[in-house]
Amino acid sequence: MALVVDDDAANRDILGRLLERSGWLYDLADNGQAAVDACARTHYDLILLDLFMPGMDGVTCATRIRGLYERADKAPEGSPYTPRIVAVTGSEGPGAEARSLFDAELPKPYSMDELKAILDSCPS
Ligand SMILES: [Mg+2]
Repeated sequence: MALVVDDDAANRDILGRLLERSGWLYDLADNGQAAVDACARTHYDLILLDLFMPGMDGVTCATRIRGLYERADKAPEGSPYTPRIVAVTGSEGPGAEARSLFDAELPKPYSMDELKAILDSCPS
């Protein structure tokens, strides 16, 4: 199960369709708080997270999601219960200090092959 987080409806749409084509089930969130709330309810294997959103940005959102797993104490490092979080970025990545929050980066504009490589590296 995947979660697509992006404030831009067109981007959510594209990522959702590509996930669907690869056989993934997914939910959509249009802001960071909605994503954190969704992650408190549902375990996601993969989270595609836009870094630049109004309100809560992607780095803060990833920090909160990681925090949920720490507090729940159910996801030891490397366990299948830790979501794979992919930063979907514009020109700039998450920055060196935030990079450890993310398992991978998908720079926009991305190709289907780049997304496929990320999906293939993630157990669904
Ligand atoms: Mg955005």
